[in-house]
Amino acid sequence: MLEIGTQTHPLPHQDALYILLHRNQVLIELDNEFLIPFTHFQPNSKMSAIYCGQWHGQDVFVCRFESIPKGFSEIGLRELLFLQDQAHYLLLSRAHQLSTWDRDHQFCGRCGAPMNEKHTKEHTKICSVCNLRHYPRISPCIIVSIRNGDQILLARGPQAPKDRYSNIAGFVEAGETLEQAVAREIQEEVGLEVTNIRYVDSQPWSFPHQLMVGFFADYAGGDITPAPGEIEEANWYPIDNLPNTPNNATISGQLINLHVEHIKKAKTH
Ligand SMILES: [Zn+2]
Repeated sequence: MLEIGTQTHPLPHQDALYILLHRNQVLIELDNEFLIPFTHFQPNSKMSAIYCGQWHGQDVFVCRFESIPKGFSEIGLRELLFLQDQAHYLLLSRAHQLSTWDRDHQFCGRCGAPMNEKHTKEHTKICSVCNLRHYPRISPCIIVSIRNGDQILLARGPQAPKDRYSNIAGFVEAGETLEQAVAREIQEEVGLEVTNIRYVDSQPWSFPHQLMVGFFADYAGGDITPAPGEIEEANWYPIDNLPNTPNNATISGQLINLHVEHIKKAKTH
């Protein structure tokens, strides 16, 4: 497992592990498909190696390449979500988010000075001119499974495959609580009122820096009215006759499966 820790960040060294990225893709060795992170790598002086924490007791860094080095190929983080275990996915998510932050915060957003100075104990860049601090960006998003008796609501967005149905989800607005975001997104996207909003689980979704916060809610009123351009189709589905839903590696799939289990269990008591 990854330990994030609060110790002083070490400099890259020979015995460390490395995650290698090319743009937004993860690099894998051609003949060693899923050996991530890598041992026996040493970044050159031009490379920015960012400390991610300790992976099974060993320091781990992320480095970004401008072109694909010889002997490597690239694979998407989203594909790796389905191919690797949750612990590896969380490590890669963190590496990807830290690397994106480093690339996208080269200059101060307030005064425009180059951001060369880094905090030695936490991931913070400090502007040497105006002292503004820049932290890795994390964008909270709510995702919610809604129950109405023995049915749950499933919806399909315009980008989703024709036969794939999922939960309602959306970004949290500035100044909003998570629960307010849940109620607002449901009202905006399908025109329903809900009650009994409760937290279930969360998952980092590093595409590029969302944190998905999962909830259950109960139907309280209104008729399904899909928002044009946002939702192609939304319906109540009986839990014993669900359409095609997202893979269980995603929080969306996990929420649906867990909600179905809860409803079934409640019926037998
Ligand atoms: Zn500044």
